[in-house]
Amino acid sequence: MIRPPEHVAAIRPYLPGKPIEELERELGISGSIKLASNENPTGPSPKAVDAIKSIADNLNRYPDGNGYYLKNKLAERLSVSPDEIILGNGSNELLDIAARTYMEPGDEAVMAHPSFVVYSMAVQSIGAKAVQVPLKDYRHDLSAMRNAVTGGTKVVFIANPNNPTGTINKKDEFDHFMEGLPDSVLVVVDEAYFEYVSEKDYADSMKWFRSGRDILILRTFSKIYGLAGLRIGYGIAKAGIVTEMNKIRAPFNTGTMAQAAALGALDDDEHVRKSRGTNEEGKKYLYNELNNLGLEYVPTEANFIYMPVKDSMALYEKLLRDGVIIRPMGPNAVRVTIGLPEENKRFIEAIKK
Ligand SMILES: *Cc1c(COP(=O)(O)O)cnc(C)c1O
Repeated sequence: MIRPPEHVAAIRPYLPGKPIEELERELGISGSIKLASNENPTGPSPKAVDAIKSIADNLNRYPDGNGYYLKNKLAERLSVSPDEIILGNGSNELLDIAARTYMEPGDEAVMAHPSFVVYSMAVQSIGAKAVQVPLKDYRHDLSAMRNAVTGGTKVVFIANPNNPTGTINKKDEFDHFMEGLPDSVLVVVDEAYFEYVSEKDYADSMKWFRSGRDILILRTFSKIYGLAGLRIGYGIAKAGIVTEMNKIRAPFNTGTMAQAAALGALDDDEHVRKSRGTNEEGKKYLYNELNNLGLEYVPTEANFIYMPVKDSMALYEKLLRDGVIIRPMGPNAVRVTIGLPEENKRFIEAIKK
């Protein structure tokens, strides 16, 4: 039988959050809730849904491979040039493209642990090495990450806010990190939860983009815009980086519906405001209930909460039987997405049981 190269065989497959339909099929139950994949519980932007409906009759045509309208609108919003934007089939794809554009077998990429598992998968898939630096107090330890950079390091991945812990790195420490880093290293700052952050001192990655550094800032329509099912995200980097990445990108990587929906969502300030409000309200409720129960959690800047627990699989399985899907994160922690008020209540009731 044909065998993949060793570096591919060694990859541990990504385990997605359990879909509601799968749980209900397995247990023969109904009315379950999913708080496992950091999706927007308020639903997609209604303007995005309208935009999709209005272009459905054109689906015989290939999408605009250059994403002209979406890139222009993003460029205007971000005060950058359209040629400093790259669109991806989810920001996930852009992580892969960045690794494939700038790394070759044997190169190293520095990342935190635990952080988003896709970084190490992207790097391992091309036979390069993922150098994982433990978090410190649940946050990226940027000085340890700086120290892990060697002559063989091509890329550093920083999730800010971090998934699964929901923590952020602040301005000073990020600036210090950037100042101390050789400028031959590409810094990928994954800001999938950017729109949820309320801390004023949140690191300013765009400042480093404007200064001309080799930095790729990733954002997505999957989280606050509620379009995870469509797969669309974007990267911001200087034109030279975008040009190289476009050589690796598949010609029609983002679909017509995804581009149209993203354009609609960008006009939907009301949906973003509502989503942020629901998240803040849910966060307060959950903090309060978890405090009352004496349960430990990590304060979050995103739409999920990380909880250190004794036995994550036991808790996960028990909640599943109550129709509540959360995400185990290793043996001693779980991650819970902040849901609608009634969903948060169900989670708390299940956990009390
Ligand atoms: C959810 C998430 C993404 C978004 O992935 P998409 O491919 O855009 O859906 C990226 N990075 C992190 C850390 C995430 O949690």
